[in-house]
Amino acid sequence: MPRTFPLDRIRNIGIMAHIDAGKTTTTERILFYTGKVHRMGEVDEGSATMDWMVQEQERGITITSAATTCHWKDCRINIIDTPGHVDFTAEVERSLRVLDGAVAIFCAKGGVEPQSETVWRQADRYKIPRIAYVNKMDAMGADFYRTVDMIENKLGANPVVVVLPIGTQEDFAGVVDVISMKAFYWGEDELGTTIEEGPMPESMRDALDDYRERLISSASDFDDTILEAYVGGQEVSPEALRDALRKGTLTNKIVPVLCGSSFRNKGVQKLLDAIVDFLPSPLDVPPVEGMTLSGDKKLVREVSDQEPFSALAFKVTTDPFVGRLTYFRVYSGSLRVRSYVHNSTKGKTERIQRLLLMHANHREDVEAVVTGDIAATVALKFTATGDTLCDEKHPIVLENIQFPEPVIRMAIEPETRADQDRLSMSMVKLAEEDPTFTYRIDEETGQTIIAGMGELHLEIIADRLLREFAVKAQVGRPQVAYRESVLGAADGEGRYVRQTGGKGQYGHAKIKIEPLGRGSGFMFVDAVKGGAIPTEFIPAVESGVKEALQTGVIAGNPVVDIKVTLLDGSYHEVDSSELAFKVAGSMAVKDALSKAKCALLEPVMKVEVATPADYLGDVLADLGSRRGQVQGMENRDTYQLVQGEVPLSAMFGYATDLRSRTQGRGTYAMQFGRYDVVPPAEADKIVARYLGRPVD
Ligand code: GDP
Repeated sequence: MPRTFPLDRIRNIGIMAHIDAGKTTTTERILFYTGKVHRMGEVDEGSATMDWMVQEQERGITITSAATTCHWKDCRINIIDTPGHVDFTAEVERSLRVLDGAVAIFCAKGGVEPQSETVWRQADRYKIPRIAYVNKMDAMGADFYRTVDMIENKLGANPVVVVLPIGTQEDFAGVVDVISMKAFYWGEDELGTTIEEGPMPESMRDALDDYRERLISSASDFDDTILEAYVGGQEVSPEALRDALRKGTLTNKIVPVLCGSSFRNKGVQKLLDAIVDFLPSPLDVPPVEGMTLSGDKKLVREVSDQEPFSALAFKVTTDPFVGRLTYFRVYSGSLRVRSYVHNSTKGKTERIQRLLLMHANHREDVEAVVTGDIAATVALKFTATGDTLCDEKHPIVLENIQFPEPVIRMAIEPETRADQDRLSMSMVKLAEEDPTFTYRIDEETGQTIIAGMGELHLEIIADRLLREFAVKAQVGRPQVAYRESVLGAADGEGRYVRQTGGKGQYGHAKIKIEPLGRGSGFMFVDAVKGGAIPTEFIPAVESGVKEALQTGVIAGNPVVDIKVTLLDGSYHEVDSSELAFKVAGSMAVKDALSKAKCALLEPVMKVEVATPADYLGDVLADLGSRRGQVQGMENRDTYQLVQGEVPLSAMFGYATDLRSRTQGRGTYAMQFGRYDVVPPAEADKIVARYLGRPVD
């Protein structure tokens, strides 16, 4: 199948930034300039811009689309959305899995903030090559050089400045390209589409010489001929420099740094050039690895259209126009429209009705997708986020994306029966889109409980349920999602016997429960000897056990990190049924739990607080009063960074508190750490609240 784009001209990238650094503005400008080039000469400028914006609104495609395809300098750039808020770190990791390179945006005013550090470290973990873009060069207080220092000192990166700003703050007018040694000025037209080469500002001579030397020295680390040429006083060609810096970027040894003001339409085209010049194509990253269906052998798929098809579904969304959209990244092989694909995670085959490339202002139907592509398809029935899609004859299971546990929950009470139905349907859809969102019906209260990664995450979900899915409902306050577990082993027995004339019921099971390590979940072992329970009833016992574990004996929370061994039981030739064994399994677990020593578990969060040194004492005392454990402190030039662990239940309202304690200057980031046993005094309060007793 002919490729429309050579593999080496594809860039699959993400844009990472902390909130407010200008990710939205920059992405918007990227899409505008790339769209414009594409249609140059077709429409006059004014209407082209209008078109673009109206279409975007009308068709409901926005730059928040999970992946957007655009073109720049013979390259296809797929921009994969990476959410910025820390509540969504799982989402960030999910997008990091499918992209090859990233642009990290920093604010020239604020420099490297704690949240940018969190995302940067995630990218380090996935070894994602990056370029840095220092935005807001026009803003009051903007300081390019300080931000570059911070990238070096705080992030431990090796920045190589490839463009220097001409003027700063309100005088910011353009950039000098340190590779080509040319100065570029953005014209006065509002949209920043005209760039003029101009004179090099004399005042920048020294800085320029200095940065040029640094750049050549960095480049020569990756190409010996550059150093020789430089020392020998010969010209080094811009192409040679770019190639060398590309090598350095791809191996994560350097981070090219650019600057601009996206809001003032200055600098974005140079950023696009840098994406093409320095960030990897799918050929520059290692081939994808996976396992056979049985999980006993490792498989590798080379980056080639000739290999069997393999892809990872990384996002499922509900699009108002085409319905369910599944975004996927093709790692190897190709896939045609109107063919079939195998979902090896679920063991199901799906039909491909349409294949789409999502552009900023239109969807493009394509006949086939090939290696390296990021595309979407519609109406897949079984595929959820993280599933592998592959050639049925050559199955492979790619490493699934690990999602952390939901730690916060909230009750939702629909107003009418119709709302209840709508709510149920909407929750199914939302859970398919977002694996960190879960829901269940509380057995005792009958309430619908939704759970997620943080306060903001649940707020957004509740808002979508109410507005997008038009469910009328009362939304409760967010609460910590507690768990329960056992601290010691115990035996339990369940006997379910009914004799009511005619066919009766008979199920009988004996089990043992034991604690498992934190985070191991649930394990069921069948150790029944001599057919005491017929094999066909064993799954029923397991299902009864699982159901009973949804409601622990301390305060009705799901029981986790537990091993249940089925030891013995008995059956009746006529009266035994799956139902009877399910009930027996459930009774046996309840019996065992009531005998075992149980404990309440709570989510403990990893917290990072950045505060000016003046308020450090106050911040530490406050963390202490929240049952926090400080694990480390670092002195950063303008502030102190405190790292520690705090139970989530003590973190409600922390944002407001921290602000008032530090006169608005402290910031923090938080992510799930682990589940741990609640201290007795706290546990008593939680149990009392659960039982409806007054809490002091
Ligand atoms: P995001 O949260 O990272 O997506 O940031 P946005 O793109 O929404 O920008 C946050 C705020 O910064 C908005 O008010 C923007 O108008 C503003 N902003 C973005 N880029 C620039 C810039 O280059 N200069 C200035 N002065 N403001 C900017």
